[in-house]
Amino acid sequence: MPVKARANHARPAPAGRIAYVDGRYLPHASASVHIEDRGLQFADSVYEVCAILQGRLMDEAGHLDRLERSVTALDMPLPMARRSLQAVMREMLRRNRTKNGLLYLQVTRGAHRRDHPIPAHARSSLIMTARPVNMAAVEKRRAEGIAIVTMPDIRWGRCDIKTTGLLANVMAKTEARRAGAFEAWLVDHQGIVTEGASTNAWIVTGEGVLVTRNLSTHILAGVTRLGVLNALAAEGFNAIEERPFSLEEAYRAREAFVTSASGGVIPVVSIDARPVGDGRPGPVTRRVHALYSEHARAAAQV
Ligand code: PLP
Repeated sequence: MPVKARANHARPAPAGRIAYVDGRYLPHASASVHIEDRGLQFADSVYEVCAILQGRLMDEAGHLDRLERSVTALDMPLPMARRSLQAVMREMLRRNRTKNGLLYLQVTRGAHRRDHPIPAHARSSLIMTARPVNMAAVEKRRAEGIAIVTMPDIRWGRCDIKTTGLLANVMAKTEARRAGAFEAWLVDHQGIVTEGASTNAWIVTGEGVLVTRNLSTHILAGVTRLGVLNALAAEGFNAIEERPFSLEEAYRAREAFVTSASGGVIPVVSIDARPVGDGRPGPVTRRVHALYSEHARAAAQV
């Protein structure tokens, strides 16, 4: 008797969720790409995750700017103009009725016979999903702070491109969760913190200076990182240094936090089981969160 094929999803998507694949809005459960898609074969694809808060896309321009930088770095054509992309993003919010959640979009090089060199006339594919987020869980993390564990940064040399080649990040995050931590901070061979597995890393020094690593090919230019820097600049807060910091310096920090589209600003209360400061979310982090959310919400368009 033939065995009925079953999709390998641990949790089925709730009925009613709609995905977008190359011009079509489809039930999430039946949306798929071709097995020869280069995103699947080679991680030849880039992505963005944009927070949806009260039905609005946060930092939308920043995410689209970065998407454009990612595709340009890989010489990958965008499947549609920026304005059309924005229209699809809004249609996804509308069809999914997402109030608070995450919009995920991925541009892949498309389906081609498997061969390493990039095909001359590749046609990119675009996929999008939208899902709700448990805001209570995010706010609990914000109130209580999270634990970090550190591990070697074993990623490639172009971490500034937001590709779906995330296996090193996935392994780091998995190890962190096994260790009872929420996030992993990746540390290079010189003992310098690069960033989190899916967040940018920040510390507040004993002197009250905010430090986050300068942009380079070693880290992703976080859109939330930029939003925080802009919000602080607008408030005239200039005790900020964009520079590398070591794990030793992080251990001595008064406060620490992470930034990402999915969580905004989240306090770090321990690093490798050592308490940061007094082991509780600190006032600077709280203020950074307040300023960032105020600015990001004000800038968000419907
Ligand atoms: N660093 C890495 C490696 C990430 O994967 C992410 C987000 O996915 C970030 C930093 C934070 O970037 P953003 O603020 O744009 O979400």
